[in-house]
Amino acid sequence: MTQVTRTDVVIVGAGPVGLFAVFELGLLDLKCHLIDILDRPGGQCAELYPEKPIYDIPAWPVISGQELVDRLMEQIKPFQPQFTFNRMVCALERLEDGSFRVTTDEGEVFEAKVVVIAAGGGSFQPKRPPIPGIEAFEGKSVFYAVRRMEEFRDEDLLIVGGGDSALDWTLNLQPIARRLTLVHRRPEFRAAPDSVNKMLALRDEGKLTFQIGQVTALTGEDGQLTGARVKGPDGEVEIACTRLLPFFGLTMKLGPIANWGLNLHENLIPVDTEKFETSEPGIFAIGDINHYPGKLKLILSGFHEAALMAQAAKRIVHPDQRVVFQYTTSSTSLQKKLGVA
Ligand code: FAD
Repeated sequence: MTQVTRTDVVIVGAGPVGLFAVFELGLLDLKCHLIDILDRPGGQCAELYPEKPIYDIPAWPVISGQELVDRLMEQIKPFQPQFTFNRMVCALERLEDGSFRVTTDEGEVFEAKVVVIAAGGGSFQPKRPPIPGIEAFEGKSVFYAVRRMEEFRDEDLLIVGGGDSALDWTLNLQPIARRLTLVHRRPEFRAAPDSVNKMLALRDEGKLTFQIGQVTALTGEDGQLTGARVKGPDGEVEIACTRLLPFFGLTMKLGPIANWGLNLHENLIPVDTEKFETSEPGIFAIGDINHYPGKLKLILSGFHEAALMAQAAKRIVHPDQRVVFQYTTSSTSLQKKLGVA
């Protein structure tokens, strides 16, 4: 039987706005579970500009994308949010009792009285390399992410790319693979120099092969790969492989949200500006994913939306409890929740 994880609020997306929502919901005693397709928190800040300075976060004259995420993680720690990473939320349905069931692409099931969609510009999805017929192998012997390393044990692995993901997985999977080849179109890498040096050291020890070139064709049957043709500066070579891991970066796509029966406006979710609730009562949308007159796609707008959403979510989860407005500076009860009183 499928195991069901029950919580007060499921948050789709662990970007800055989803993270701050945990704080606002936590002050009102609501427990949260966040789900993100990425392998870590931070959304666009962590994935697209971790080292860039942000200048318009209130009270931080300058803060980098990653530091903002680190600070948010520290701020929400007292509320012990639960995270499920590397998972796409695929389905969202209402149950007979009015609560919601959320299902991931790996079949995990979550149930909650409130769902908060903090999905930003949509889910980060891997870019497909321009290799003819690659679709037939996807999910069987071509993978764009490593969810369980054991699935790659004793395989002949071909990893393609020159960024951090390609190099990190080369280093992590080399000890368990039967054979590993890394293919990159040029000798220079975008990945951290330390990872590149480690990869070159393994190559020099004969523990992996590094090939300059581009994959132009795949061979195999019924989705099972047997080899790949690589075109390099010295001509074409055939590399035997049973698993291919291309790391060509990520792109943002709305993804399954379009199928959840919500009203949409140009791929955004219209909400009211009192509660930031969608066309479905109990489902809220905050941050870059929502739309209302005057909306600014700024992190600070998402923080404000999270605060108002939380008040409305509280009334749904605990309709019997009064929502009392309190300041963190003066409320001992809020300070106890934060572990500072
Ligand atoms: P996101 O950060 O987009 O996070 C959403 C998360 O939801 C993602 O991690 C995504 O993978 C996940 N997700 C979506 N759908 C699903 C699904 N179905 N299943 C699982 N996970 C899902 N803003 C400012 O205020 N100031 C700035 O200076 C600034 N500079 C920027 C510079 C750049 C280069 C960029 C790209 C943006 C900048 N922004 C800035 C915008 C800011 O980053 C966004 O407003 C902010 O990230 C929105 O936060 P969010 O939590 O709503 O969404």
